[in-house]
Amino acid sequence: MPSNIPRQARRGAAIGMKRAFILSTGDELVRGRTQDRNAAEIARALSAEGLTIVGISVVGDDLDDLVAVLRRAAQEADVVVMSGGLGPTEDDCTRAAAARAAGVRVRRDPALEEWLRARWAERSLRMPESNVRQADLPEGAEAVPNAYGTAPGFQVTVDGCEVFALPGPPREMRGVLADEVLPRIRELIGATDHVVRTRTLETFGARESDLGERIADLMGRDTWPRVGTTAMRGTIRVVLHSEGAVDEVEAGLDRVEADVRQRLGGLIFGRDGATLAQLVGERLIATRTSIALAESCTGGLVAGALTSVPGVSAVFPGSFVTYSNAQKVALLGVPAELIERAGAVSEEVACAMAERVRAHFGTDIGLGVTGIAGPDGGSAANPVGTVHLALASVRGVTHRRVVLPGDRALVREIAVKCALDFVRRALLRVAT
Ligand code: ATP
Ligand code: MG
Repeated sequence: MPSNIPRQARRGAAIGMKRAFILSTGDELVRGRTQDRNAAEIARALSAEGLTIVGISVVGDDLDDLVAVLRRAAQEADVVVMSGGLGPTEDDCTRAAAARAAGVRVRRDPALEEWLRARWAERSLRMPESNVRQADLPEGAEAVPNAYGTAPGFQVTVDGCEVFALPGPPREMRGVLADEVLPRIRELIGATDHVVRTRTLETFGARESDLGERIADLMGRDTWPRVGTTAMRGTIRVVLHSEGAVDEVEAGLDRVEADVRQRLGGLIFGRDGATLAQLVGERLIATRTSIALAESCTGGLVAGALTSVPGVSAVFPGSFVTYSNAQKVALLGVPAELIERAGAVSEEVACAMAERVRAHFGTDIGLGVTGIAGPDGGSAANPVGTVHLALASVRGVTHRRVVLPGDRALVREIAVKCALDFVRRALLRVAT
């Protein structure tokens, strides 16, 4: 493992740069007002390049703290990628901190100043004089262009470690990382056949423990690829991770992926971050299957998820949110007597909602969702989290009852996924 190789030995050209440290800066991050999105994205990108991430830190807008963390990071890693603190205001101290950590002064770069003024002029704006600070760089640093904003990044050497400073706004960070920093890092790493690869298989419909049991023998800590599971609000992700020579890594991942697919079958709905909404939307479009929805406890969230998919208008004419019993009767034509007899949260009403909405819109599929999201309204027969789903099609109506865990928000979120998964299984004719 590269992480066990002493740092001095790792400096050799044959081994190349392998260890990376990621640093996010900003008071709003350490105070928990903004969630750090940059570090995770940078970690994924650097891992994909074959670098081992030795640490991630979040530091406030404090010069001394930043210098200390930068020095430590430079000790531990061959490359540091940091984001934030490049703006023109007093609290933006990345330039000063990098200079101090490198033991050099900050000086103004005339070419960079010219570039900055030109950026503002392009937009017919006069640059505020305070912005000229963004042309300051640690001595010996190289500016890293930012085509996505006005704050240029830079690259500087601290104690033999290459430090890249990127702008904080995630959109700018992402662009500069991809366009400017990754190519430079590839050059620094040089030719290497050590790669780090992660594949994920997205599943829905089984508990994490049940799913884990089915692949338990693949989840040993000392076999490659490493196999693990992560539960994410109802969706369970099987993560396959491997490092080593590229051919062996890919072959190993292919072998284990095939094995996992064999064992989990229809539970797997996609790979590498695919969502149920995407998959279902695309399948509906590809098979020209139209759908209409009648939603109660999900309040339109299923429609929201479906309409996040571009092009879905070809198969989704519309839906009803019928939250009250009266509107289930008035808009959908569910018999009042049925609601009275079976209850609004029941198989009968879910089925009637599905059939009625299908008839109303004249679609191939009608989907009905009714349930109890909580925190109140549960009973012994119908506890909080009970959701009835019904799917009407030319083949008749099918029904499912699930009892979902969690608070109101989680129940609603998983109910949406259950609804989408119900449609997926109907489209694939996978058993429910
Ligand atoms: P600016 O020129 O906008 O000041 P900057 O490089 O100085 O850019 P920051 O001031 O640190 O960057 O952050 C600018 C904005 O980007 C802030 O609104 C902040 O919330 C957001 N941001 C910065 N870092 C992160 C991060 N790691 N994750 C999510 N958002 C971030
Ligand atoms: Mg700033």
